[in-house]
Amino acid sequence: SIGFILAMSFIMATVVWLLATRRHSLYTQLAHAIRQRQIHPHYQPLICAHSNVVSGAEILARWHHDELGFVPPDVFIPVAERTALIIDLTQSLLEQVVDDLQQGIVALKPGFNLNLNISYSHLADDGFEVFVDNWAPVFAALGVTLVFEITERENIDISEAMAHKITHIKTRGIKIALDDFGTGFSNLAFISNLRPDSIKIDRMFVRQISRDVATPLIDCVIDMAKRMNILTTAEGVEYDYQVAYLKANQIDCLQGYYFSKPLAFGDFAVFLRNYAVG
Ligand code: C2E
Ligand code: CA
Ligand code: CA
Ligand code: CA
Repeated sequence: SIGFILAMSFIMATVVWLLATRRHSLYTQLAHAIRQRQIHPHYQPLICAHSNVVSGAEILARWHHDELGFVPPDVFIPVAERTALIIDLTQSLLEQVVDDLQQGIVALKPGFNLNLNISYSHLADDGFEVFVDNWAPVFAALGVTLVFEITERENIDISEAMAHKITHIKTRGIKIALDDFGTGFSNLAFISNLRPDSIKIDRMFVRQISRDVATPLIDCVIDMAKRMNILTTAEGVEYDYQVAYLKANQIDCLQGYYFSKPLAFGDFAVFLRNYAVG
């Protein structure tokens, strides 16, 4: 009946409105948090599998909201990506990273890698080249190698303009890592277009390494990368037998809770000191 249809339409409209205002409020809160520098960089160590030294760290955004408590990146990053806020957020994280490094409480080895997640929408933005030109010399002066971790979330072809940007990043001395390899659209076509320096094998595959069953898929990815002169990092390493398996199969770099969770800079400095000693 018409009454039923009207009632349903009203309910639907209300739901849509509620969702819209919810999103709007998260957007507003996020914009505020970025401005107030309430979103901080945490550092998760990257371990060189050949030498066992800490060869770098991945920068991960952490938001502790006054009322909501810890808001996971999986909640706020998609909101930031749908809006231009991701650019402000990335900018703010880099400013804080530079502040952290300039405190001088740790001396990073020259060529230490700092991996930063770069969203596709940021890469696609007109201002991306200026962003690269602004930050590349800052990190070069600090003796740190910037690595942009890029994920293909949507199946977008790398256009000529995009290929140009990739080249631009490389000529400024910034390296490229293909993130979450093996999931979503991070596929073989993306490797040939992006020509990354390294690929990060997603946790989903690392999780499949068990005590006694071989994981030929990981072996193949490492083998393929080697043939293409691309370094490999395993993400989400949690157990000693995963470390052993990956080392036996010539992985280059290891990352995961087995070594450390992402840490605030002070704790990261302590980790670096103890890891060098222990
Ligand atoms: P990602 O880039 O794949 O980052 C790795 C995620 O795995 C991080 O989650 C990290 O805390 C988690 N992780 C690391 N080792 C382990 C492990 O051994 N076990 C398990 N279970 N998890 C592990 P996090 O920090 O929650 O970030 C989630 C995602 O949010 C990231 O995935 C990345 O896509 C995005 N993200 C986080 N910070 C930023 C940022 O500053 N910018 C952008 N564009 N994206 C970000
Ligand atoms: Ca990443
Ligand atoms: Ca990843
Ligand atoms: Ca991931």
